[in-house]
Parts: sequence; structure tokens; C-alpha cells
Amino acid sequence: MKDAENPTIYLKDYTPPNWLVEDVHLTFRLAPQATRVLSRIRFVPNPDTQDRRFFLEGEDLRLISARIDGETVTTEVTDEGLICDVPEAAFLWEAEVEIAPEANTALEGLYMSGGMYSTQCEAQGFRKITYYPDRPDVMATFTVRIESDMPVLLSNGNKVATGDGFAEWHDPWPKPAYLFALVAGNLVNLPGSFTTKSGRAVELNIWVRPGDEDKCDFALEALKKSMRWDEEVYGREYDLDIFNIVAVDDFNMGAMENKGLNIFNSAAVLASPETATDANFERIEAIIAHEYFHNWTGNRITCRDWFQLCLKEGLTVFRDAQFTADMRSEPMKRISDVLDLRGRQFREDGGPLAHPVRPESFQEINNFYTATVYEKGAEVIGMLKRLVGDEAYAKAVALYFDRHDGQACTIEDWLQVFEDTTGRDLSQFKLWYAQAGTPRVTMTEDWEDGTYTVTLKQSLPPTPGQAGKSPQVIPFAIGLLDRSGAEVVPTTLLELTETEQSFTFTDLKARPVPSPLRGFSAPVILERETSNEDRAFLLAHDTDPFNRWEAGRQLAKSALIGMIDDGKAPVSGYLDALSRLVTDETLDPAFRALAMALPSEDDLAQSFADMGQTPEPQRIWNGREDMRAAMAKALEGELRPLYDQHLVTGPYSPEAGPAGQRALTNTLLSLMTRSDGGAAARAQYKAADNMTQQLGALSALLANDLGADELAAFAGQWAHERLVMDKWFMIQVAQARPEEAAGVAVALSQHPDFTMKNPNRFRAVFGALAMNQAGFHHASGAGYRLMADWLIKLDPLNPQTTARMASAFQTWRRYDADRQAMMSEQLNRIAALPGLSRDTAEMVGRILAA
Ligand SMILES: [Zn+2]
Repeated sequence: MKDAENPTIYLKDYTPPNWLVEDVHLTFRLAPQATRVLSRIRFVPNPDTQDRRFFLEGEDLRLISARIDGETVTTEVTDEGLICDVPEAAFLWEAEVEIAPEANTALEGLYMSGGMYSTQCEAQGFRKITYYPDRPDVMATFTVRIESDMPVLLSNGNKVATGDGFAEWHDPWPKPAYLFALVAGNLVNLPGSFTTKSGRAVELNIWVRPGDEDKCDFALEALKKSMRWDEEVYGREYDLDIFNIVAVDDFNMGAMENKGLNIFNSAAVLASPETATDANFERIEAIIAHEYFHNWTGNRITCRDWFQLCLKEGLTVFRDAQFTADMRSEPMKRISDVLDLRGRQFREDGGPLAHPVRPESFQEINNFYTATVYEKGAEVIGMLKRLVGDEAYAKAVALYFDRHDGQACTIEDWLQVFEDTTGRDLSQFKLWYAQAGTPRVTMTEDWEDGTYTVTLKQSLPPTPGQAGKSPQVIPFAIGLLDRSGAEVVPTTLLELTETEQSFTFTDLKARPVPSPLRGFSAPVILERETSNEDRAFLLAHDTDPFNRWEAGRQLAKSALIGMIDDGKAPVSGYLDALSRLVTDETLDPAFRALAMALPSEDDLAQSFADMGQTPEPQRIWNGREDMRAAMAKALEGELRPLYDQHLVTGPYSPEAGPAGQRALTNTLLSLMTRSDGGAAARAQYKAADNMTQQLGALSALLANDLGADELAAFAGQWAHERLVMDKWFMIQVAQARPEEAAGVAVALSQHPDFTMKNPNRFRAVFGALAMNQAGFHHASGAGYRLMADWLIKLDPLNPQTTARMASAFQTWRRYDADRQAMMSEQLNRIAALPGLSRDTAEMVGRILAA
């Protein structure tokens, strides 16, 4: 691999910066092919080090001039940056560079997209704008002047001056360069306002391309709710006079929390009932909140180095999950987060890309914006809160804000505030940040004379670069029920700290039914021998909504595995339980919809791998189809009445209540379509005045090899809406039969509206192919070849998205010898590519090393 060319960077090698920055003045003379960037930077020696060597990061820059204290200086420029002799004491650095935003397809640094200028500087994009100490522990105030004839010129902070062809912005809050942002374009805004609890009037704007202004109301309301929530729950107030959000079509990530100027993938902002689904609305609300919450957890208190990424991301994901739970339904949010965690993070943890929540080394930091850093990072915060209690959590976080405001911090700083407020020793807890892999907890039980004993054993499998791990602190929430369904022991938190530990419950009248790992109190794999009767009992009676869902899930999984494994008919107990649950009007419709959703193909493949069997993608696909058929038959009499009862008509609202009903009716519709020839789905498609019902109907039709007319009509209706057309591209690949999936993706890649320069469109086709497991893993190998072909085409244009998409191959070791040979052939083909990006080289190298 490319290790010789791409050096590995280690956490243990951290040294403080030699020079600190007091303030930065930047002038941008914007031009698509030759933008001039003039920088004036006041450097001061860092008292924490004696080293006075001077190095500024810079990539793809054309240096025009460099001066120190007004005198031209000689510099040595390399591919990575610039070296120069500097005075011993404070000095003023001035440089002028030229960059070409129009040629920047990597979407890092300053780039042009759809005729507008935009930036993305996290993690290391600022070095593509000018020479600078591009590391998060260098924090400075920025003043920015933008010269351009574009009508809207935006940067961080408050606007201080504006005139014909220019605007000046000043951000009074010291920040690292990764939070720098600039936008210039022909944009229109939806304005709003917010008054903070101390009375500061804040101007709000959502900036979009002309024509999109009618899709901003929901985002603006979500922003106001987020601002209020952070004041009420965390006591955090906004700290500038203006908060701008800009929607950009070509964007690698979801959104970016630049100080006072958040830049969003347009898919994470724009929504109208006609064009966005309920899931889109919920995601937009969560992302708006997430980026806003970064203003304190990330911006005011930032990361010392990129190894600490989870410090800002884990905490902010945890905060946005709390927000969504408060705005919508706490149990539903927990269930969907756990589905996501198992689907993405457990998958990562179990394969060649496993890494600790705080990684210890990287070649390309862009490759560590992962489910482990984000989602497991948030789980770690949740466990900490569970262990110390809500009150201590609130005190510790308040101390964190007091103590570290304006600083660049580490995980040690974060844990210290918990140790200082609670007196608790967190050294063992800290292993959650250091050890990779998903812990397995085995639970066994004993019953004797009114005493019930639970024995828990933990183990942590080896992961790349890590073996021989130590036991972690696992908060294990458990409740006990009696056979009538009454709770005899309410939720109790057991702390598992040893490899093996027993816990007893005394004075019980009869052997209880345990409800273990309530609320998914720790991100572990629980192994326990249990009967389908007990699962059905918990599905009917558990007072913990998460575990109620979990019991149904396990029941579905065991029934499915039986069907796939030896063609058994589904356990009738499962279908009976499902039928009772679906018609139980005391249950949230959203909960019922989720309970009807089958475990994903990937989830089932992992289950087979865990049992020591080789997963067979086509058989898994067949098994799920058979199960759907069995469900449709078992629920035959209930489907239509339930559907009619819950079908939402009348004005659309994205609130959790009607959204849950639409989720339920769409799920019912997909089963109804199996036997009614598509009549109900066609009727829903015709009547739909919102995207959730329109797309739900189309999806039900396509899943049953129907809907060709609707598919064509959909394209005609929405040809002018990029985000809706992404759905059109995606649904065809997602719903394609396994043997046709690669061919469908090929055909779509030749469609005139396909472009690989737009990450959303690329993911719509090839991300969907990776998700269509039986299609991607089809025995012909066509899916593998096609994916590799396109990653090879995309890498020179956009390394970041290429590397991320390469993770489609991360589970390759799970499969049979033929598939492994085909996948490794494609991975090696990518790896051998001359000039392969650092991003993709590292990713493919790690996957192949498994
Ligand atoms: Zn974030």
C-alpha cells in the first residue's frame, strides 16, 4: 500500500503549536479561476514551548508574496506547506496567494458549486485557502473582507461594513481555522428573529437559491426551537447578533457548524410537504439542532487535535438526540438510534475498519468521521450520564462550560469535570474511548428459594492493532416482571466492572421474567438463552418500550433465521404476536410500524456470521420475501381496516403523531400490495398531496414489480426538483431485484441527470447499490465491479466521498471464498491505481488488511 508515501500521524506524538495567532485579517478578491487571498496574521510565541521553528500548512496554493513586519521574506514551499525564518518575538505575517475555486471538485477549502462560492474547512480544508497553522488548538479572532460583484457576501461573526462590491465581517470569538466560512452568490433569504433569554436580539437567515425560498420555513422553526432548547436544558445562549444558514447543493457531509454561518447540504435544509418525506423533516430538525448546538460544544470549546473529534461530535450527537426525544417521542428516538448504531457502528466495529472512539492514529482524518466517533461517542456520553445520574451530569457539564470556555480540549478535560463533581474515579470508564470493538455480554440466571441471580460475563474481541483488552464499565439496566406482567423489580442499574460478576435479587415470590439491558443502557451485544415464549411475553407486557420492541425484533429474527436456514415456516407464535401488536390501539402507530419492519439483510448476514455460518445474500433476500408473504397472509383480514382507520388525510403536518400514522399505513400498504395487484397503492399514489404518501405508494408498487407508469410519471412531475430526483434515482436501485440491481445502476448512471460531481446524486445510485445487499453481493460479481469502476472514476474528483463509499466492501471477510476473491480483486484494482488519493488509499488498505 501507500504507507511509504502517506505518513501516519499518532496521538502520542502531539506537541503544542510553536506559534499562536492573535488575530487574522483576510481579504478575498473572488474570481472563479484566480481568487486572490490576502492574509495579515499576528503571530506570538507560545509560552508553553521553546521551539520557535515556523511552519504553515498550505496545499494547492500559488504563493504570490510573503512579508514579515513589512519586509519581503524568502520561503521554502513544499506540497504540505511553507517554512520560513522568523523573528524570536511577536511579528506580523502578510501573504498573498492565488487559488482556483472553480477547479476544486473535492469540495474542500473554497469551491464553486452551481455558480456560488462556498467553503468547507473541517477538518483540514483551510490550508487550501491560505498558509496557516491549520490545527484546532490555534484559536484566533477573524476579520474578513470579501470583494466580489455577487449580491450576497457572507462570512463568520457580525457584519461590520458593506458597500458596492464588498462586505466585511468580524468574528469576536476566537476560533480554529476549521470553523472559518465564506459564501458568495446570488441567494435569497428567509429572514427570522430570536431573542435570547438575556434579551439579545438575533437576526436569523436561511439563504437558498432563488426558487427554493418556499422550502425554508421548517428549518427556520427548527432553528428557533434549538436555540430555545439549548437555553432551557443546557443554559447555553447564542453569542452573536446574526446566525446564518446557507443551503449548498454540492456538499460531502450533511452540514457544517462554522461559527455564525452554518453551511448545509441542501438535502438537510430544504423541505416542503410535497417534496420531503416525514423522515426528511425529522432529519432536518435534528441536523439544524446538531449544528446549532456545536456553537458551544465544538466552537466555544473546541478540540485540541483531531484525535479528540469525539469530544465535540459524541457530545453534540448526544445533545441532538435529547432534543429530538423532547420534540418527538423518547422511546421512538431510542429505537431508531439503536437500529442505526447496530446497522452502521456495530458493522464497523466488527470488521477491518474498527477503531476506538478516540483513534490513536490516522493517515487522513476525513476517514474518521465515522459511526464509531459519532454514534458510539454519543453512547459513551449516555452511559456516563446513566452512571453518575442526571443531576451530577448537569453539574459536570456546567463545570465543563465554565472551566473550558475559549479552550481547545481533550477527552481527559471532559472526564475530569465528572471526576471533580462526583468524586468518582473514571479511569476504567475511559477504556470506552481507547478500546475498539463491541463488548459481548453473556447473561445467565439462577433461581433458588426466592432469590434470583443474574451472572454477567463480558468479553471484547480483538480488533485491528488491539488484542488482550481489559474489562470495561458496563451500565446494565434490568427490570423484573412476574408472570402476570406486573413489574416486581423496577429498572435497576447494575454496574458490570469485572470480567464476570453476579447480582442477586431477593424476597421474590416466584421466578421472574427478566427484562435485561433496558433502554439499551450500553452499546453491547447481549447473549442470552431465552425462549420464544419469553420473547412473546415481553413483547406483550414489558413496561420498557425499548425492550418491548427488542423482544419483537428478536422474535422476528429467530423466525427469519429459521426460515432462511432450513426453509421452516415462520414460527406461528411470531405471527400471532405481531397480529396482536399491530391491532393494539393503545400502542403508538409509529411503534407498530417499526415493530413490523424486518431486520435488514445486513443485520441478518451479521447474525449468520456471528453463528459461525457463511451468509448467503440471495437466501437472506428470499427469506425476507417469504416472511413478508407470510405476514401478509397472517394479517390478511386486518390490513385494509387498519389502513383505512389510520390513513391521514387533510392538511399535512410533519409532527410525530401524523408521521407515525403515515409510517404505519405505508407499512400496511406494502403488504396489501402483495395481494391486491397494486390497487390500494395506485389509489394512494394518485391521492397523495405529500411526498411521504407518494413515495410510500411508489415504493410498495416497485417492491412488487409494479409501478412502471407511476415511476415515469414521478420523473415527469419532479424533473425540476433535484432533491426529489435523488429519491427517484435511489428508489429504483433500492427496490431492484438482486439480479437486476447492478444493471439498474448502470442504466441510471447513463441518465442525463446523473452527475458524479454531486455527492447526493452519486450516493443516490451507488450508496443505494451498497445498501441493496443481495444486489451488491450478487454471485455474478457485477455489483462489485461496477462499484469499483465508479470509485476509480470518482477518486480524482472527490477523494472524501470515494473513501467513504469504499466502506461498502468492509464486510468482505464475512462471505464465501468466491465472493471474497471477487471483492479482493476489485479492492486491489483500486489500490493499484496510480495517483490514488490519501483518503481512498488508507481506507482500501485498512479493508484489505483484514
Ligand atoms: Zn457535528
